[in-house]
Amino acid sequence: MLAETPSFFAAGDRIAVLTTQPLGGVLDYRAPEGGVATGSFVEVPLGPRRVMGVVWGPGEGGFDAAKLRRVGAVLDIPPMRLEMRDFLIRAGAYTLTPLPQMLRLATRAPGLGQPPGMRKVYRAGDGRPDRETAARSRVMDALSEMGGLALTLSELAQMAGVSTSVVKGLVKQGVVREEQSPRDTPFPRLDPSLPSKALAEDQAAAAEVLRDGLKSRRYGTTLLKGVTGSGKTEVYLEAVAECLRQGRQALVLLPEIALSAEFLTRVEARFGARPAEWHSGVTQTERRRTWAMVAENGAQLVVGARSALFLPFQDLGLIVVDEEHDTSYKQEDGVLYNARDMAVLRASINDARVVLASATPSLESWANAEAGKYDRLTLTSRFGTAALPDMRSLDMRSEDLPSDRWVSNTLARAVQVRIDRGEQALLFLNRRGYAPVTICRACGHQIGCKHCDARMVEHRFLKRLVCHQCGETEPRPETCPACEVEGKLAAVGPGVERLAEEARALFPEARIAVLSSDMYTTARQLKAEIAAIAAGEADIIVGTQLVAKGHNFPLLTLVGVIDADLGLQGSDLRAAERTFQLMRQVAGRAGRAEKPGIALLQTYQPEHPVIRAILSGDEEGFWRAEAREREAAGVPPYGRMAGIVLSSEDVQRVFDLGNALARNAQMLRAVGAEVYGPAPAPIAKVRGRHRVRLLVKAPKGTALQPALADWVGQFKLKGDLRVSVDIDPQSF
Ligand code: ADP
Ligand code: ZN
Repeated sequence: MLAETPSFFAAGDRIAVLTTQPLGGVLDYRAPEGGVATGSFVEVPLGPRRVMGVVWGPGEGGFDAAKLRRVGAVLDIPPMRLEMRDFLIRAGAYTLTPLPQMLRLATRAPGLGQPPGMRKVYRAGDGRPDRETAARSRVMDALSEMGGLALTLSELAQMAGVSTSVVKGLVKQGVVREEQSPRDTPFPRLDPSLPSKALAEDQAAAAEVLRDGLKSRRYGTTLLKGVTGSGKTEVYLEAVAECLRQGRQALVLLPEIALSAEFLTRVEARFGARPAEWHSGVTQTERRRTWAMVAENGAQLVVGARSALFLPFQDLGLIVVDEEHDTSYKQEDGVLYNARDMAVLRASINDARVVLASATPSLESWANAEAGKYDRLTLTSRFGTAALPDMRSLDMRSEDLPSDRWVSNTLARAVQVRIDRGEQALLFLNRRGYAPVTICRACGHQIGCKHCDARMVEHRFLKRLVCHQCGETEPRPETCPACEVEGKLAAVGPGVERLAEEARALFPEARIAVLSSDMYTTARQLKAEIAAIAAGEADIIVGTQLVAKGHNFPLLTLVGVIDADLGLQGSDLRAAERTFQLMRQVAGRAGRAEKPGIALLQTYQPEHPVIRAILSGDEEGFWRAEAREREAAGVPPYGRMAGIVLSSEDVQRVFDLGNALARNAQMLRAVGAEVYGPAPAPIAKVRGRHRVRLLVKAPKGTALQPALADWVGQFKLKGDLRVSVDIDPQSF
């Protein structure tokens, strides 16, 4: 239908404009003087305001022609492409998100449409330096490589590997010219013809297959599986190189910003310049520039977080989703989407390729590969001499530890051995803070959050109690808020900070680094700490799942998992998959360089099938067993599922609506779907709002969304009631 839309409307034509305003949606206007192209970004009057919109198609005609208002300015940005509009429509239909909200996702760049402010850029001048230094000549080399193209200060400094003061010194002498530019500057060109590392045989073969895929210029998804350290990144960088050679744009999605420092350096080493970045750590000005340059083909490669999928690529040839199993690809508020799935959708619309890279793929992707929907490439061994760590369980039932200790004697001895050898040990506990529970030993009261159905977690480092749901914090009280007895509040259970305390007591001479997100206020601090650890400035790393992801610590040879059973509690059907992935990932941190590694898993249930699968490393066996269970339960990826969360400050009101929905579900049953609930949501109260959940399950292939929309749309939402529909929820 979109394809039939005329590409241009003459002045005065009735046109439909999609705005970002929730109540507006698609509204009719008249085309401006001089006409307007379909997809153009325009400013339109809406009530007393002027808002941004996109020319969507011919007007619908429902509104009196004489009263139609005229489109205001046509903004100076490339029109939205047909594929992008198609993507927004289909992603919106899949996630049941209204189009205005989808458009907001696609235009999240400050000051869009306004001319960019003046910015300083740098290029070669005519002056001679008073003195040649190595740093100075690197600056001149970087500028001459750019062939007259201007760079920003930080880009120039980064390319030359010098501090910005070196550049400024050269500006003073007229060697480098500083100019005010009224335009956003394109990103430095990446050069795909620079030599890659010499690839191992299996890497070379995999790279060849990915290159051939790109040459086909047709959609296709490849699951690139390989143990951590097998060289997947090197392989998919070859796909990026091919994409750049074709003159098309590439996108690499990463789950964690902390990862990107190392990654950006690798891109620079491979292609001679740094790519554009898109994540929450990027400044507003840089965001705007990136958006504009992606739209104008002035950015060949973007490295970003999930929302980079909504950037206005002109000719997208490749999307890489690294660590594709990572749960942070699921956006959990606003538009609920999974970036991995949306990457596949976007690529299929753009005739682009997708590479899903992981050591421990999601069951979804594994099943798609099994079913032949995705191609599969596997790297079986670690690159070079590095071997996979040996994995063993430590049966805690025979360790006889006092209740305020968590590191068993066996594990402690193993740690001591590493310290003595000048190697590193990681103690892993996936729990932030000091202690998960604060209990009154006089009355038994546990301190909970005022606004949520959650315990307050003690954070000694911050000297406060913190709610992990809503972020509420308070000083740790001296007296119990329930019985008012003083001095009886006690910390129960370990968090990563308490584990660090135990490590300090056990190994007083060791240098201990704690890697948990609360310990760092900025991404820069975290990056610095990671770099310090990699450089050997710690003997013991105590960390949460923050360390499980992608970091390379060459000296690390021992991983001790404090509580391997932690993720296996509860009724979540994805618990086994999560635990398997996390344990394999974290164990994969050990022995990445020449020295072999070992992982020791403390567990009270060494016979548990998931623990056994983790230890044996029989991944295919594990996936097959998981697949059988999910298939029997009719849940994803073998059935369809949606979670509907209702929330309100009034608990009665949420349950009333939940019950009404459950009673009036004939349109769901008509398509073969079943409704479960209402029941308290996994987190029953957040920020003062009570939450109730209904789960909808349907056979694979059911057209679930239209039925869901009808169903949820039956009731008018009174007062503060909110409904959010989560297609493919993370927990069920
Ligand atoms: P993965 O992405 O599978 O975890 P990486 O691509 O990060 O693996 O590779 C692991 C390590 O091995 C990295 O330090 C990388 O630089 C190195 N490496 C991988 N392939 C090669 C190669 N062909 N030549 C030299 N070093 C390589
Ligand atoms: Zn709270």
